[in-house]
Formats: sequence, structure tokens, C-alpha cells
Amino acid sequence: MKLLKSKQTLSHESMPLIGIPKPLDQLSESEIERKACIGKVMTYTLRNLTSQFVDSGFQWLLPVALSQSTDPLWPDPGASIEKRIEVDIYGKTVRTTASMIIHKLIASSLAYPKLFILSPNIRIEKAERAKTGKHIYEFTQLDFEARGASSKDVMSLVEEVICSLLTSLKRDMKDELTSLCRCDTLALPKRPFKVYDRHDLEAKYGADWEEGIAQETSDPVWVTNIPREFYDFEDFKTGKWDNYDLFLPQYGEVLSGAKREWEYEKILKKIERDNVDKNNYALVLKLAKQGKLKPTAGGGIGMERLVGWISGVKHIAETQPFPRVPGTVHEL
Ligand code: ATP
Ligand code: ASP
Ligand code: MG
Repeated sequence: MKLLKSKQTLSHESMPLIGIPKPLDQLSESEIERKACIGKVMTYTLRNLTSQFVDSGFQWLLPVALSQSTDPLWPDPGASIEKRIEVDIYGKTVRTTASMIIHKLIASSLAYPKLFILSPNIRIEKAERAKTGKHIYEFTQLDFEARGASSKDVMSLVEEVICSLLTSLKRDMKDELTSLCRCDTLALPKRPFKVYDRHDLEAKYGADWEEGIAQETSDPVWVTNIPREFYDFEDFKTGKWDNYDLFLPQYGEVLSGAKREWEYEKILKKIERDNVDKNNYALVLKLAKQGKLKPTAGGGIGMERLVGWISGVKHIAETQPFPRVPGTVHEL
């Protein structure tokens, strides 16, 4: 989650978008065929990416749904979250997973130096975000973290993983990509991907830089130095953030990640600065104070956005068997 100015959110949300995905039982025969085809691309992508991470020495952890501590998704002046789900169990208040960032920091520091999780994230986005085509209220991140890694390490790993996925897809999924009209238009990006500083993009496009770069680029590109939550590394001397978002042509942000903070004083200062309730981050603070939180870096790939781009969908909920379009609840 990055900081958004409300102006940005508005223009992001005013993007013309067509075709809100329907549930399975309301699809025509040809729509079901298309759904099944996107499903095959999703299956291929999941198998390919998880294999690549396992082959690179990452351990595959299973996700959790309820925790006291989850991503604060804050500060965010253009907050897109309509409601946070909290429930009491066994005398404690737990929250549904917004992202597994806190779990990743702790697990990577203590027990699993290189890890990834296919993690369901629940973010009850405002209903008007249905028309961005890029927001759903339940989605899955392929969320990964590596102890001792630098931003450069992660960026080159992601480039390798994405290019290798696209090469394999173009070889093995020709029929599916052809019927989705993506066989010729899905190009293999050149490496290394271009890197932009958010400052420069703001100077060029103004507050709506995310939309500006997504519309202009024809290849995936990185954007660095984005003000974000307390866990991303910020150089207090220069004010620069050591983090990175990957943007896809037209589809926009598909990954957020960073080198992380690990020092107690800095984390505490940022939590207080952001007005985040430090009681919800007691463990991460305790471990940092004891010197047990280690420098790590990682990121999370939005699976529906990635497969949506590969498949050329109008709305990323098309990649979901059971669409989670903001503002609409179906029986399944
Ligand atoms: P955006 O600015 O596009 O709303 P974000 O910066 O708030 O996204 P992050 O908190 O960085 O999102 O989440 C990590 C990744 O999870 C994103 O890069 C994206 O791929 C995916 N993601 C985030 N929110 C959603 C959503 N509502 N629907 C689908 N995917 C999402
Ligand atoms: N997955 C993101 C990260 O690793 C965190 C988020 O979901 O906001 O930085
Ligand atoms: Mg983000």
C-alpha cells in the first residue's frame, strides 16, 4: 500500500472501464470458455512461479487468515479501505489478513531466511473502486521475503522470474494466448527493466503519475522511492525510501516491495509518526529491540493483476472463479 493523494485516487477511479465480471452461474457459454481459458493461464502461472521460487531456495509457507497484527495499510490520505474486519476470539481481537508483511519480516528473521506465501488478502475497497478494473476486495499475493537481500537482488530476481514465466507461457500456452488475443501482443520485456524515481514521475505527470507511467510504458518498469508504511526502509538523512513498485503497461502496479527497517528506534519513530497503534505491533517492536529482527527485502506480486495483464482482461476479477468486485457480494 502506498500513500496516495486523494486527487490521485479520484482520477485513478475515473478510468473508463467496461464489463464488471459476473459470477459463474450468469455466464454465457462463450464467457465460460473464456473463463476456463484464463483459469488455465492462472494454473500455469501459479505452477511456474512457485517452482521458480522453490528452485531458487525459497521455502513455501502456508498463509494465515486471522492475526492480531496485520498490514496497517496506513498512512494513506486517499484511504481506499472502507472497513477493517476485526473479530474477538478466545478473548483477543484478531484481524483478517490485509497482507502478510509482518509475518514475513518475523518468519524471515527467525526461521525461514528465504520464504514465500500465496496469501489471500482481504481489503474491503470502497465500492467506487469497482470501475478501476484493478481492485478486488479479496485477492492473492505471491508474497516473498529474503534475509540479507538488497533491493537490487530482489529487483533482478523478479525480472528473472517474470521473463522466464513469459518465455514458458509463450512456448506452452500458445492456444490459450491466441484465444485471449494475447499471442502477438504479449511481448517478452528487455532486461534490465527501466527504473524511475517517483519524484521524477511526479514532476512529469503530477499527482497522477501512476496512471501516467502505466499508460506511457510498453514494458514493465520499476518505480522507486515511494513514501509508504513504517516497514519499508527510509533514509532519514536524505528522505529517500529504498523501495520499489513494478508497473505493467496499461494495468499499473503489480508488485510492491522494499528493503525493510529492522532497527527498533526507527520503527518506533515511524509507527508513532504515522499514528499507527503500536500495541498491534508489539512483537515486531520487541524483536527489533532484542536485535532479532534482521535486515530483509522482499515484495508481493498481485496474482490477479499479473494474470489479468497476461490474459488481457478488462477487469481483474475476470481471473477469479468467484469474482470479488468492490461493492458487490454474490452468494459464492
Ligand atoms: P493500489 O495503489 O493499486 O491500490 P496498493 O499499493 O495499495 O495498490 P499494496 O499494498 O502495495 O497495494 O499491495 C501489494 C500488491 O497487491 C499490489 O502491488 C497489487 O498487485 C496487489 N493489490 C493490492 N490491492 C489490491 C486490490 N484491491 N485488488 C487486487 N490486487 C491488489
Ligand atoms: N507485499 C507487500 C510487500 O512485500 C506489502 C503489501 O502488501 O503492502 O512490501
Ligand atoms: Mg503498492
